[in-house]
Amino acid sequence: MSKEQMMEIRKQNCMTMKITYYKKPVFIHQGYMQWLWDVDGKRYLDLFAGVATVSVGHCHPKVTAATQRQLKKLWHTTNIYIHPELHEYCDKLASYLPDPLKVIYLTNSGSEANELAMLMARLHTGNFDIITFRGSYHGGSQQTMGLTAKSSCKFPIATSSGCIHTMCPDVFRGPWGGSYCRDSPVQTIRECSCAQGTHTHAPLKTVVSDPPGVCIANKHYIEQLEETFATSAPSQIAAFFGEPIQGMGGAVQYPKNYLKEAYKLVRQTGGICIADEVQTGFGRTGSHFWGFQGHDVIPDMVTMAKGIGNGFPVGAVVTTPEIAVSFVKASHFNTFGGNPLACAVASSVLDTIREDSTQQNSLHVGTYLMTQMAKLRDKYEVIGDVRGKGLQIGMEMVKDKGSREPLPPEAMSEILEDVKDTGVLIGKGGVHGQTFRIQPPMCITREDVDFFLAVFNKAISGYTDRK
Ligand code: PMP
Repeated sequence: MSKEQMMEIRKQNCMTMKITYYKKPVFIHQGYMQWLWDVDGKRYLDLFAGVATVSVGHCHPKVTAATQRQLKKLWHTTNIYIHPELHEYCDKLASYLPDPLKVIYLTNSGSEANELAMLMARLHTGNFDIITFRGSYHGGSQQTMGLTAKSSCKFPIATSSGCIHTMCPDVFRGPWGGSYCRDSPVQTIRECSCAQGTHTHAPLKTVVSDPPGVCIANKHYIEQLEETFATSAPSQIAAFFGEPIQGMGGAVQYPKNYLKEAYKLVRQTGGICIADEVQTGFGRTGSHFWGFQGHDVIPDMVTMAKGIGNGFPVGAVVTTPEIAVSFVKASHFNTFGGNPLACAVASSVLDTIREDSTQQNSLHVGTYLMTQMAKLRDKYEVIGDVRGKGLQIGMEMVKDKGSREPLPPEAMSEILEDVKDTGVLIGKGGVHGQTFRIQPPMCITREDVDFFLAVFNKAISGYTDRK
């Protein structure tokens, strides 16, 4: 089929997504590990992995072989019957989670997982209100759209009521950046002493000097959360949802102790804490298998999708036996959730992460990428911030470092197009679309990073020269 035909069909019949990132769209045809090829045979280094979805590599041979084996055996059976693939997979996945997170419900997507988590939290607590961060994305179904707080992803319809959006503790763009203590290998230019030791960071919109040992920004953001509780009926909080590092929000990281303190407060109100690991799970943050572990917390529920299946549609909710009990009042049924094929794929993804040392690679290559990117940040006025952990990375683009005004959409598109034309695919996110996102298949190498850095450097210097 010609490109023109595909574009015509996309316009007329294929409205899953109206836009593409690019003026000149990419027509993807084939993938292998961290590489994609377009229909003309041009190769791209894929640093976006279909939005942090391809975890161990496109068409990874081990996962492909496991899929083929299962395809010949059994694709589908209803979970009324007991089949080994589901039980073997649940046993294996449970072994990756700390106690008491041991009860698993399989779904087909992240939205489905989050919607189920909302229902379970409300049933378990008897409360209704759910708190999420402004700028977060938790799904596009009608219920989860209530959780999502990113205007470009919301429609003017009645979504789930009882979703309250608290201020995102974003130490770069938020009003309080005084204590720049994110859990990231890269910190920036200005000094800050807080409970976590001394960090340095870029000039701030609001300069706050921390007394030694106190993280003022964290304190202010926690106060905002407490004020958010006060907007709900007393003790009506069912849950607090948070990504350990935001994805669509632009790799936003919170001050180090934020989640720990937030979890404590939420539990005091009678609510439960839910970690949305749809993007951060399965070793992507490098230091840990789950993003929440980097915050030294144990949630009451974890939702996952994307990387769980390396691109195959799978999602899951994992919770405690106590919460699971509240969920047996009626029958919950999901035709495809936990089907044998999905379980075989997801099981081989877990094996591959272990056998290929994928998480360790995420840590080493991601840390290298971020530290090298920090040099480009120091070189260019338009790179305001570099942040993240492992291979969940953001580069926030600004008009200039003094004002921190977001780089306008046309400029972001110009750079993105240039990077793509030179053979690298990266993502975009953030409330103003101002953050480039790097979330590649976790098999990328240091050589790939060097290639990307050269490409990105050229694109930014080209943009800066043209300006
Ligand atoms: N949660 C997060 C953090 C996500 O990034 C996404 C998808 N971008 C979802 C939930 C929804 O997942 P899905 O598209 O599979 O429904």
